[in-house]
Amino acid sequence: MKFTPEICSIKDERMQPFIDADEIWNYLNNTASTPERVREIIAKSISKQRLTLEETAVLINTNDPLLIEEIKQGARTLKEKVYGNRIVLFAPLYIGNKCSNNCTYCGFRASNTEAERKTLNDEEIVKEIEALEDNGQKRLILVYGEHAQYSPEYIAHTVKIAYGVKKGNGEIRRVNINAAPLDIKGFKTIKEAGIGTYQVFQETYHPEAYKTYHLRGKKADYGYRLTSLDRAQEAGLDDVGIGVLFGLYDWRFEVMALIRHTNHLEACYNVGPHTISFPRIKDASTLDLGEKYFVNDENFVKLIAILRLAVPYTGMILTAREPAWLRNEIIQFGISQIDGGTKIELGSYAETLNHEQDLNRGQFRINDERSLNEIIDELFEKDMLPSFCTACYRMGRTGEHFMEFSVPGFIKRYCSPNAILTLAEYLMDYAPKNTAIRGWEVIEKNIKLLENEKVIDAVKERIEKIKNGERDLYF
Ligand code: SAM
Ligand code: SF4
Repeated sequence: MKFTPEICSIKDERMQPFIDADEIWNYLNNTASTPERVREIIAKSISKQRLTLEETAVLINTNDPLLIEEIKQGARTLKEKVYGNRIVLFAPLYIGNKCSNNCTYCGFRASNTEAERKTLNDEEIVKEIEALEDNGQKRLILVYGEHAQYSPEYIAHTVKIAYGVKKGNGEIRRVNINAAPLDIKGFKTIKEAGIGTYQVFQETYHPEAYKTYHLRGKKADYGYRLTSLDRAQEAGLDDVGIGVLFGLYDWRFEVMALIRHTNHLEACYNVGPHTISFPRIKDASTLDLGEKYFVNDENFVKLIAILRLAVPYTGMILTAREPAWLRNEIIQFGISQIDGGTKIELGSYAETLNHEQDLNRGQFRINDERSLNEIIDELFEKDMLPSFCTACYRMGRTGEHFMEFSVPGFIKRYCSPNAILTLAEYLMDYAPKNTAIRGWEVIEKNIKLLENEKVIDAVKERIEKIKNGERDLYF
């Protein structure tokens, strides 16, 4: 197997796309899976070590249902050991759906004349954010098409609006971004606006397949997209999210490529992806893609468990694209973030009347329409701890995934206490009576699981302050 040294600077003219399709297929085609190897690899991951490409290929090539079950249980054990039971909640907010690209899978593509184009004006953004705050949201991801109008300055402007809206006790404390790749100057502009994570999904890492879906516009440049998070790093933005749109190419290849991308970021910047996303293609306005690379539920669960094991420190995001029953099932295999109360039609959070989803107003169909509070109720039933925590990034604990990974007790010291405090705020300010009653029981139970008496006392003291009206207390 050939190993090319990692070229890290995008200013280095030797920098090539670091995804080598032949190398990945070589691993997949020449790696055998035996029960001993699979168990060895699961054990390695549970001891919180990253998996290599070869080890990931072993898990991917495992087809024995009993071993696949062991992979899933391994992911569950790792999650419980490393992450505890907290689940971070957020909401997406689509700012504008104008787009000059023509991604064949997306309802926003330029050639889709059925799409209703809209960019929220400042006043509409404020209304959307007030509606989100009224539901108890504290973390948003702002989403944009790729269009000249959505410049870095414009994105920064919308981020600042989001941070500025305060309604009652409501406020947005972390704004993440999912938008087109930027140049280094653009990333600097966005960073200065105080964003959390910048997500860019490669969609498919296979260069030839990529071409067939991205026929025109800036996004047709595979290499520019692949190196976008290198430019982010050069701009000092070290909190980045990667992802694949599953259904465009062979899922086994894509999982390997996500790991290869992770290796690249770790080797070059000493910090891997803050999050990995794995959207599956959903129905969209005038979409007719065929099912050649459709990922069924069984393989979807398997690939999520493998990603969890392969990158123990990373945040894993499962969105409302997937139906509630499947999200409830998958959440146990290593998911750390989900969206709740999601609406993706432009301007729809502020609308008071409920209506059927209109695919011409949104990017794709969402399949989990539960409210944020319904999701919180169900998390309680699953013995999980909903969290609106935004502490690490505001405390300057960047590279936090590494800390989670490497510092023993990180969860008990920071994540669980902050989850408890942000949940307490939610119960005081937004929860209906039954949720509040159950929620305080959940808090009681989770306080007992904290690291030591000192932390327990500090949490209890802050909860009293929250009950007396103070907000935004964190460790
Ligand atoms: N326009 C920016 C870009 O392309 O990078 C922002 C991303 S787009 C608004 C958000 C993500 O939605 C895309 O990166 C893609 O992975 C996903 N997506 C697009 N069409 C989809 C579909 N039909 N079903 C599910 N997800 C889809
Ligand atoms: Fe535009 Fe992004 Fe949709 Fe492509 S995925 S058509 S770039 S909004």
